[in-house]
Amino acid sequence: MFRYEDLLKEVDLFCRHGVETGVVGESELKQRIPYIFVGKKNGSYMIVQGAMHAREHLTALLVVCLAKHLVKNGDMPMEGGIYFVPMTNPDGVRLCQEGVGFVSDKERKSNLLTINGGSDFTLWKANADGVDLNVNFDAHWGEGAQNGYYRSACNYVGKAPFSAAETRALKEFTERIKPCVTLSYHLKGEEIYWEFDQKGHRRFRDKRYAEAISRYTGYPLVTLTGSVGGYKDWCIERLKIPAYTVEVGKDSFNHPFPYSELNTILQQNLDLPRRLLNTVARDRQRLVGTGLAALYE
Ligand SMILES: [Zn+2]
Repeated sequence: MFRYEDLLKEVDLFCRHGVETGVVGESELKQRIPYIFVGKKNGSYMIVQGAMHAREHLTALLVVCLAKHLVKNGDMPMEGGIYFVPMTNPDGVRLCQEGVGFVSDKERKSNLLTINGGSDFTLWKANADGVDLNVNFDAHWGEGAQNGYYRSACNYVGKAPFSAAETRALKEFTERIKPCVTLSYHLKGEEIYWEFDQKGHRRFRDKRYAEAISRYTGYPLVTLTGSVGGYKDWCIERLKIPAYTVEVGKDSFNHPFPYSELNTILQQNLDLPRRLLNTVARDRQRLVGTGLAALYE
């Protein structure tokens, strides 16, 4: 299992090898949410994030491995830089892997046990406040078919958009970085979500990149109805950039998802971040000075 402390060690290793690392922000329980930056500082950036859902912690290791692959192959052309955020939800991941033992606040601890209905948190998806981070973003917030309105292991939208420390941190980080594309790793199903009611040129553009992701990974594009308030949704609606959720891992496995599948998942995604960034960044550069340039601003 890949733990939060393993992530901190990995980040430290990147740092010692001269790779830029830093902090996106802090979780509800004041744990740092680290990032690893690989590539050039030329204004064309991508954010790749994982483990927004606690029980999907395998995606944190996946994102670390994708970053490592790029560092090891530093001679491959990159049209910009990638901010890898392996674990957006460190509190949730710890809860899922360790149970409530690490939570120091007694009241929070007992609330979590009540919400969860026991001490086994292995299927927990939310943060340490019972908020499902991927429905806490301001994009048709609270209007989803599966949305919940009280604290829970999953689906609770929170008191308001960005009420969770983790979503606020990722929002502010994203607004600061101004990425031209984002990629979110979730588990499971081997499928790609790319839509959030885009129209016209943007729809055409976003679908074209989605099809490229599909060709590379072998995962089909899927239309989700009634799903709102996610990071990808907010990126598409508010930032007007292409943004993708990639669900890795075969659906036939149950959670907790077996780590033995990591190699298969890695093979399907190994060079995806670089390829996607290059495609989007080259399109932007080509359109500079044309009427379509605004599409990429
Ligand atoms: Zn998920």
